Amino acid sequence: MLIIKDISNLKSYLTAYQNKKYSIGFVPTMGALHKGHGELIKRSKNDNNKTIVSIFVNEKQFNSKEDFNAYPRNKGLDYDFCSDNDVDLLFEPSAEEIYDKEETILKNTYYNNILCDKYRKGHFDGVITVLNKFFSIVKSNKVYFGEKDYQQLKIIEKFIQEKYKSLDLVCVPTKRSKEGIAYSSRNEKLSKKQIQDFIGLHQRTENFLKSLEKSLDIETANQKAKDFIAKQDIEKLDYFEFRNNEDLSFNGKVSESRLFYAIYKGKIRLIDNLKI
Ligand code: AMP
Repeated sequence: MLIIKDISNLKSYLTAYQNKKYSIGFVPTMGALHKGHGELIKRSKNDNNKTIVSIFVNEKQFNSKEDFNAYPRNKGLDYDFCSDNDVDLLFEPSAEEIYDKEETILKNTYYNNILCDKYRKGHFDGVITVLNKFFSIVKSNKVYFGEKDYQQLKIIEKFIQEKYKSLDLVCVPTKRSKEGIAYSSRNEKLSKKQIQDFIGLHQRTENFLKSLEKSLDIETANQKAKDFIAKQDIEKLDYFEFRNNEDLSFNGKVSESRLFYAIYKGKIRLIDNLKI
């Protein structure tokens, strides 16, 4: 496996791939790799001649320096993970390599002021800014993102339609532990007790979802969601609500929706979305 840190070196490999007419799959990540990332890599390996994974903890998408500094990093394990998963090329640039000193931050105009965009102001501006850089450097045929970050996926879908029309976006379902919680880099920061509490909440939430009539309006289901979550022992909650799968609105039946939530365990913010 190649480990490349600078753009000029990367470009020479990309040119070689293009000369050989290899199809390229790209999996952007922030490292601390886990089985969820593994699913994206597997899909890319299946679809393409070459798979490129990037590891870049993008400061511009963090709301605070504290959260950025606390984000899990485990370089050595990530190298092993990529190598064990037969990644062809790992791109791990520095911030200086990616950003100019006076970098212009792109403004995300999609799905504004709802879900994570409401609580993490500027987060998606940072996401599309870094992806704009990566997409223009890597120029892959396909790019892989997880449904775990569903609002991000919807925003990227629009961004690609607008700016990178020839890039194929592949959406990968969320990989879960046997207890049902989504694999996430942030889980590493949870204590055993916090994990157990989180699993308990997840399982009660799944039962709540099963108890709902599929013909309910999203609005009515949200009243029930409010009652359900009020009874749970949660330190801090940003949102816990059903939204339409397609446009993230409150329109339609609950059968066409997902339950989206962002909760805190201690200082760790956990997000997920559950299909009905
Ligand atoms: P991150 O490193 O957290 O920025 O995530 C990189 C990519 O992996 C994003 O497209 C995520 O949506 C995806 N991802 C993260 N967790 C999971 C999971 N449990 N299952 C599937 N994809 C995931």
